[in-house]
Amino acid sequence: MKIQHIFFDLDNTLWDHRKNAYLTIKDLFEKEEITLKYNIDFEVFHSVYHKINESLWEKIRDGIIDKEYLRKHRFYDTFRRFNVDDEMLSMYFEEHFLDKILNHNELVEGTEYILDYLKNKNYTLHVISNGFQEVTERKCILSGIDKYFQTITSADTVGVRKPNPEIFEYSLNLAKADKEKSILIGDDWIADVVGAQNYGMDVIFFDTLHENKQETGLKSVRHLLQIKDFL
Ligand SMILES: [Mg+2]
Repeated sequence: MKIQHIFFDLDNTLWDHRKNAYLTIKDLFEKEEITLKYNIDFEVFHSVYHKINESLWEKIRDGIIDKEYLRKHRFYDTFRRFNVDDEMLSMYFEEHFLDKILNHNELVEGTEYILDYLKNKNYTLHVISNGFQEVTERKCILSGIDKYFQTITSADTVGVRKPNPEIFEYSLNLAKADKEKSILIGDDWIADVVGAQNYGMDVIFFDTLHENKQETGLKSVRHLLQIKDFL
């Protein structure tokens, strides 16, 4: 059956969260003169932060911790690795991180090209994100890609996150889309690929981290432009 609706994940599929987070933390790190005060190298700090943050997000996805826990711990646990035990400093980073990240709006390479390409082929485009509705919308507006999307769905509006089928159900209803004529494109194996498969819609795995998943019939791309092979 012919695909009519394309649902995109946002973070690290179109909006380059990794790069924008990196630039935001670098700004804070330099402003607070962390290298000077504690003799910590930024690149080393960032790679420790990145691992801790990813592992905390996995725990949220699996329902082991909540967002409050993540907010209290991601910078605190990172600083602790460098023997800096300072809750105030960690909370300062956390609060300003969320304030400032929207000052950076780098997109994943090929985003505008592929959105133009798909729009010109008359597909209807949408977003399904596990983020907060307001933040998701602002990311789309500030990066200039909001004009491409007919609907934007965020987890906090629905009350459940991908891979829960309810968020796909909600979003496709909002879009008035049949699941047989819809496809999701996303970078998270569990939230996006397994989520879409369990809901019963087609999916393209955006394998940015070269996870190399092997599965019969899996549609997988490593660059957004490769989506043209399927759509
Ligand atoms: Mg993502």
